[in-house]
Amino acid sequence: MKLEEKAIAEFQRIYKKEYGKELPYEEAEKQAYHLIRFAELMVDMYMTDENRKDRLKTEPKGFPLDGVGYTCPICGQNTREGEAWFDKYGIKCLTCKKGIDRKEIPASMAKFTDKWYSKYDMESRFGLKTPTLRKWVRNGILKSRCITNDGKGVHAEIFLIKDDKGFLPPKELTESQTVQEEKDGQTWIRSEPCYRFVDPYKRLEGYEIMNYLNFVKADE
Ligand SMILES: [Zn+2]
Repeated sequence: MKLEEKAIAEFQRIYKKEYGKELPYEEAEKQAYHLIRFAELMVDMYMTDENRKDRLKTEPKGFPLDGVGYTCPICGQNTREGEAWFDKYGIKCLTCKKGIDRKEIPASMAKFTDKWYSKYDMESRFGLKTPTLRKWVRNGILKSRCITNDGKGVHAEIFLIKDDKGFLPPKELTESQTVQEEKDGQTWIRSEPCYRFVDPYKRLEGYEIMNYLNFVKADE
């Protein structure tokens, strides 16, 4: 797409007004182009979303989506062709959708991902690995819900905060943080668990899970 000179001049004018300095023509052309691409993408996403919502009026139970590579918010897997489903709670994979139909987990969990912890969350936020989780579930310390593969085995296991009330803290208290690091002359951004930044015993005080965890200070 070629931008009109007038549009680029306008972009330069706005830039000068905002930042108080001149933006060279070529740079302005580049930036304006990226901005338009970004806006187009946003409009595209918005239209796709609106079209899907529209379709729900005639297909209230939802419908399959074309294409591949949607990430299922429940099991975290990327979908292959014919494996994505859309309904009023958003996208999910077909296996999770069938599990929801069998009432293995509430349908709304696909949308409200802050209402539950995945196994990955349990490991990244509390350092809990599968054998420990399995033991806790077996001993009734923790309750989990499983989405099966058409009734057999486990496709995904999640921990609903309302099932483990008083045991699991709200997710916003355990959110990881991004840290910036300079290494080899480059800036790296990585995510660090919250217990590296705050005292988990203070922040998560009163939540029963703390009786079972043993945090050690980073420098110990
Ligand atoms: Zn899934």
